[in-house]
Amino acid sequence: MESIFSKIVAGQIPCYKVAENDSFLAFLDINPLAKGHVLVIPKVQVDYIFDLDDETFIQLNLFAKSVAIAMKKAITCNRIGVTVIGLEVPHTHIHLIPINEVNDMNFSNKKITLSNHEMQKIANYINTFI
Ligand code: 5GP
Repeated sequence: MESIFSKIVAGQIPCYKVAENDSFLAFLDINPLAKGHVLVIPKVQVDYIFDLDDETFIQLNLFAKSVAIAMKKAITCNRIGVTVIGLEVPHTHIHLIPINEVNDMNFSNKKITLSNHEMQKIANYINTFI
């Protein structure tokens, strides 16, 4: 079955795109823990990150690194936290989250709400540093 992220890749569902190349896509999490919370995915649908072939795994992480570097330039924060959970959407995704302290990575925290305009603005701004 097509994941919601495959539908985003196919353009069937919109996203706030941050960066893209032939194999990978970065876009804002729709339910962010922090302003600028990004998901980085391979376009190929593989549920579990450690089932990716080595080359895709390496390239995904290099792509995520370039996105995280851009995020750090765009957003005032201590650093960009990185984590993989994947219990909700069965399509590999790396969370990149601007953080100031360890608790900012706590997925039990209340999510923030931003307007469509703010989401688009952040995605566009991060993209200018890619
Ligand atoms: P996980 O699978 O890592 O536990 O969580 C999935 C993440 O994907 C969540 O943070 C959730 O907010 C995000 N998410 C779920 N559906 C969508 C969607 O349709 N669009 C976007 N941009 N993010 C989504």
